[in-house]
Amino acid sequence: MKTQNLIGGKWCGGDQTIEVTNPATGELIARVDSGGAEGAKSAIGAAFEAREDWAGRTAADRGAMVASLAGLMRRDVDRLAELMTLEQGKPLAEARGEIAYAASFLELAAEEGRRLNGDIVPGSSVEQRILVLRQPVGVTAIITPWNFPSAMITRKLGPALAAGCTVVIKPAELTPLSALAIGELACEAGFPAGVINIVTGEPGPIGDALLWDDRVRKLSFTGSTGVGRMLMGKASAHLLRLSLELGGHAPFIVFDDADLDRAVAGAIACKFRNAGQTCVCANRFYIQSGIYDEFVGRFAEAIGEMSVGDGMREGVVIGPLINEAAMRKVESHVDDARSKGAEFLVGGSRLSIDGLADRFYAPTLLTGMTPSMKIYREETFGPVAPVARFETEDEVIGLANDSEFGLAAYFFTRDASRLMRVAEGLEYGIVGANDGTPSNAAAPFGGMKHSGFGREGGKYAMDEYTELKYISLRL
Ligand code: ADP
Repeated sequence: MKTQNLIGGKWCGGDQTIEVTNPATGELIARVDSGGAEGAKSAIGAAFEAREDWAGRTAADRGAMVASLAGLMRRDVDRLAELMTLEQGKPLAEARGEIAYAASFLELAAEEGRRLNGDIVPGSSVEQRILVLRQPVGVTAIITPWNFPSAMITRKLGPALAAGCTVVIKPAELTPLSALAIGELACEAGFPAGVINIVTGEPGPIGDALLWDDRVRKLSFTGSTGVGRMLMGKASAHLLRLSLELGGHAPFIVFDDADLDRAVAGAIACKFRNAGQTCVCANRFYIQSGIYDEFVGRFAEAIGEMSVGDGMREGVVIGPLINEAAMRKVESHVDDARSKGAEFLVGGSRLSIDGLADRFYAPTLLTGMTPSMKIYREETFGPVAPVARFETEDEVIGLANDSEFGLAAYFFTRDASRLMRVAEGLEYGIVGANDGTPSNAAAPFGGMKHSGFGREGGKYAMDEYTELKYISLRL
């Protein structure tokens, strides 16, 4: 297990360390060196030095190395998944799925790098030709959250590398081990020194070092809207190019004409993956009157059957929350909803499980959600499904769009015309139509409104890491 920072091709220590604990048991897993601001500056220097050589290689060479990293992740899927479950808590089967998902971003990017085609545009006189090139933006800072410790990195790393950028990664301080494991595999894949650098530790000083350095030309961030907004403010000093994938508050709508089996399965998958700690998970359920009782009954039954515990244990589908602060947020949303009249059909409290830390929250279904509740506007980031009833299509589109966020939305219907109308009416970057799990490495993942801007995945991601340049050529 790597616990040092990767800077300029070398594993480096730091003056301080951060402790990584297992959220299921509370046990200390590792002390990871904190590179701090100095580490970040060295990493920027290494990335800056490596950039010309890396950008000067052929797309095929770069792509082969990116694909080779993906292959090594797939080879080591069991080891990487266990490491992820240990530091993040998600069930092992989900962790394995995330490693495969993470590898798929690299594989797609390796191919897309070969399709960074330019244009030749007609000039304004017979002698003029306009040649349009796409070139790498340069040194790229990557800041990622703890809920998807591998996939949020490769989603940025793959296209950045394939486009010819060199990178400095600052993973979340709660889950640095998965990031460092990717770094170790990158060394095995043969990336030149300085192309991929990883600096771990307290975010403030590292973030400032990345934002205040003119050699860094791009920041790709996934995390909370609050931190994203703050980083955007700081980034203005250097007019740093930004991609921000921020919070969400997804509506999940079930119409009377929906296929209920699919709607219930979609709701479970969408709400409870990663114990509800994802930015695309459903936060508000709107169920049409005609099927309200049946849907809620079936949903409650399915939730009641979910097995909660240490993600390392076979059969567990809901792991721990990441830390006590996350637990307190979930409890405050639930307490607030209870005080405002919500009724609890399943769950509604912490669970204590023998021999494990106090980090488990019972999968919960509450009815009577109203706009005055915190849970209606803020991300809960926990396994709590709040439900309300609605009558008409127009009404529910208005309710669904009544949010500052615009990342993901879901709805279930069998009416083809309604399907298009509703999909077009939802102000969200990702719409799951009869689909509770729309994530796909080839799709343009990203949000609207306070969920940020920029798109990640497939060919769309390449735009985030390239600049257009045109050459005006006179014959
Ligand atoms: P979450 O709610 O998912 O923890 P955060 O926005 O707090 O989201 O964290 C996402 C990423 O942003 C993490 O890598 C975290 O360390 C980083 N981060 C938090 N504060 C700062 C900061 N001041 N400067 C740079 N990065 C930061």
